[in-house]
Amino acid sequence: MTDWQGKNVTVAGLGVSGVPAAKVLHGRGAKVTVVNDGDDARARAQAAELEALGITVRLGDGATLPEGTELIVTAPGWKPDKPLFAAAHEAGVPVWGDVELAWRLRGPDAAPWLCVTGTNGKTTTTQMLASILKAAGLRTAAVGNIGVSLLDAVLGEEQYDVLAVELSSYQLHWAPSLRAHSAVVLNLAPDHLDWHGSMEAYAKDKGRIYEGNRVACVYNVADKATEDLVREADVEEGCRAIGFTLGTPGPSQLGVVDGILVDRAFVENRQKNAQELAEVSDVNPPAPHNIANALAAAALARAFGVLPKAVRDGLRAFTPDAHRIAHVADVDGVAYVDDSKATNTHAAEASLAAYESIVWVAGGLAKGATFDELVAKSAKRLRGVVLIGADRALIHEALARHAPEVPVVDLDRTDTGAMLAAVREAKRLARPGDTVLLAPACASMDMFVNYNQRGDAFAEAVRELGADPH
Ligand code: ADP
Repeated sequence: MTDWQGKNVTVAGLGVSGVPAAKVLHGRGAKVTVVNDGDDARARAQAAELEALGITVRLGDGATLPEGTELIVTAPGWKPDKPLFAAAHEAGVPVWGDVELAWRLRGPDAAPWLCVTGTNGKTTTTQMLASILKAAGLRTAAVGNIGVSLLDAVLGEEQYDVLAVELSSYQLHWAPSLRAHSAVVLNLAPDHLDWHGSMEAYAKDKGRIYEGNRVACVYNVADKATEDLVREADVEEGCRAIGFTLGTPGPSQLGVVDGILVDRAFVENRQKNAQELAEVSDVNPPAPHNIANALAAAALARAFGVLPKAVRDGLRAFTPDAHRIAHVADVDGVAYVDDSKATNTHAAEASLAAYESIVWVAGGLAKGATFDELVAKSAKRLRGVVLIGADRALIHEALARHAPEVPVVDLDRTDTGAMLAAVREAKRLARPGDTVLLAPACASMDMFVNYNQRGDAFAEAVRELGADPH
């Protein structure tokens, strides 16, 4: 659909993706109607802005398909089981998400996309990838689910050689014709199942990222489900399956040998069967899951032809975003680490695996998760546990089942001082050499606005503690 003149397009949802999509389509001559479930002050302000341009907006009615709709462009978060989509299906109307729209609107000489998805590690890996591509002298940006609109990147003034694109499972669900240069699924663990309906449906949406890849489908050797998705994908001829592993790499894999990140998939020197890329200590922080992220980013960059030196320089130049295994301070020989972004059990398991003796600060909103596997795997590393938040009893019960000897402080508080109390308790449990680790394995919204605020509260509490020797 390249001629937009007079096309009836329904944009489902205002907000960060809907407003720019409506403007762009209107600008190309489409007849745009925006439908939105909510009718609050923010929605009204956005509606007024669009109506001033001549765009029709229906507030408080996201369920009815407007008469004559030829295409729906939906906000990625809208669930597929909504009545609007049932009506669209019935009427044979296609549904695109924000990523599909950007993909379709990109120009003929558009930069190729290197795409990243997975349950955890997406943002970190996408940023590492962008850092490596920049170190190679390429014009690039980290875009997509990371908070930078793909539509802006594709239609803006700035010229790019290649884009590092983070994609969520929602975005992939609504992006049927996306074809990446190369892509990775970092890992697969149950998450967002209420949205997708089942683990199978979630995996299928993640696997969409490999469809039609031209050069490389990168998978996690330690997570067979990701390799299965590569096998099931329909890719272009010559596209290779490339694995990454924390162990010694096989052929067509990147891995680690004696503290060196090594590439056996893309080797420039024909005399050799492996290419050294960087040292483990070049990865910040050098926790196992983060080395995996670095290998995945390196694999995508190497698929794009980036040389080893740029991989090393790019990894050295990379600093992680806040609240991702961030070292806050050392107090009395105890390290305090903020991994507030560990909002699910899979992420918390990775961060607990990075330390030996831990006082674990956990809890919040469980989002339907169970904690038995996480606690069983991490029990031997736990010096003690401090629990906060609405669903802390679920973690407490799992601890009683799998780690009955580990001391637990169950803080029945949700007030603003709760985090300070938690950190005080953690300090009491910790011994020199231990790590007090905030890796909640839960969402934060029961006590905080978001994970950022939760991490800030932790860091603030640690600073207070450091200032007060008692
Ligand atoms: P996402 O964008 O997928 O949410 P982030 O890069 O923001 O991922 O990292 C979120 C959290 O997930 C981190 O704070 C860390 O606890 C955990 N994490 C990061 N990378 C991995 C990985 N490869 N495997 C498991 N957990 C990870």
